[in-house]
Amino acid sequence: DVLLSEDIEFSSLLLSPLVLQGLSSAGFQKPSPIQLKAIPLGRCGLDLIVQAKSGTGKTCVFATIALDSLLPENPGPQVLVLAPTREIAVQIHSVVMAIGSAIEGLECHVFIGGTPVSQDKIRLKKCHIAVGSPGRIKQLIEIGVLSTASIRLFVLDEADKLLEEGSFQEQINWIFSSLPVNKQMLALSATYPESLAQHLTRYMREPTFVRLNPTDPGLIGLKQYYRLVPTHPLPHKVFEEKVQHLLDLYSKVPFNQSLVFSNLHSRAQQLADVLSSKGLPAVCISSSLTQDQRLDAMSKLRHYQCRVLISTDLTSRGIDAEKVNLVVNLDVPQDWETYMHRIGRAGRFGTHGLAVTYCCYGEEENKMMMIAQKCSLNITALPDPIPAGLM
Ligand code: ADP
Ligand code: MG
Repeated sequence: DVLLSEDIEFSSLLLSPLVLQGLSSAGFQKPSPIQLKAIPLGRCGLDLIVQAKSGTGKTCVFATIALDSLLPENPGPQVLVLAPTREIAVQIHSVVMAIGSAIEGLECHVFIGGTPVSQDKIRLKKCHIAVGSPGRIKQLIEIGVLSTASIRLFVLDEADKLLEEGSFQEQINWIFSSLPVNKQMLALSATYPESLAQHLTRYMREPTFVRLNPTDPGLIGLKQYYRLVPTHPLPHKVFEEKVQHLLDLYSKVPFNQSLVFSNLHSRAQQLADVLSSKGLPAVCISSSLTQDQRLDAMSKLRHYQCRVLISTDLTSRGIDAEKVNLVVNLDVPQDWETYMHRIGRAGRFGTHGLAVTYCCYGEEENKMMMIAQKCSLNITALPDPIPAGLM
């Protein structure tokens, strides 16, 4: 698959000239393997479940499908995209605008909580593509500001997250039933757990399943390590120990930017403070921050005003941090899906990167081994001391 797509350009996918122009000016020259597989099927109007690891280019899949069939002169929203977090919605918007840059009068807008509804009303007067969080989108449909009559494409980005137990199931059910029966639907996801399959079969009619074979290139170039640390009955001792290891790692490895995951958001903030006090600009993005603070943290990372972004799983998904080449798990994640999501943040698109997971002897160690086995990943012990040239 990797080789096959090497010689194929977007121009062989029979896309409209304006979309091709947009793709090229957005810097997308050749389709990634998942784009090569999914875009032609999506253009045929099929319902798709697109499953591929983080960083394989799924945003461009649905943005291209949506824009290729857009009728800019028609009034009313034509495409509705749901995303699990504000950050992802904002990123989708910028990808759509980039790929749609040659389409005159294109209107794509983001609708998320924490901004005034009055502003949404104005934006919805002219909007081809609406991207938003389930809560705000439902609200806008409910109060009659967002008309769904002309929607012909419904997209669930990060569908696994959107339809996770206790997240947005109810709102999405409600939104779904307010949409026209005749429409195309795309669900994009990094994983495909059983529960997601069950949900999607309720929404989609004979969906086509698009996925890469297990040797897909998503993680090529990413070296994965774990480091065992002593256990201690006092949690803050364990934390301090792990932080010492992390500081050692940062001093030995010439990383560009780093993303750190903590299972606890109290620790995330603490770690940001420690790193900043040691002269490493770090910010923390946690669910207790306001929307503005979160967007501000993301923008600091993007504009290189900080080198370390610390996050919990709640806020991590879909963060596209291009320059991140070192992902650190301060704790072993809950399950293998979470591990894959986290490390998928580094080494995106085949660039070189490093992932290091700190685990205490015992329980955490076992969990780590199970994850490695489950994902058939090659995760080895981080050499001690850390050699020069590891990265
Ligand atoms: P996913 O949703 O699968 O996690 P994204 O859509 O966020 O992945 O894309 C990951 C990165 O790859 C982004 O930085 C994006 O700009 C880049 N990318 C996507 N498609 C291409 C392409 N065809 N050529 C080059 N870069 C691409
Ligand atoms: Mg994505």
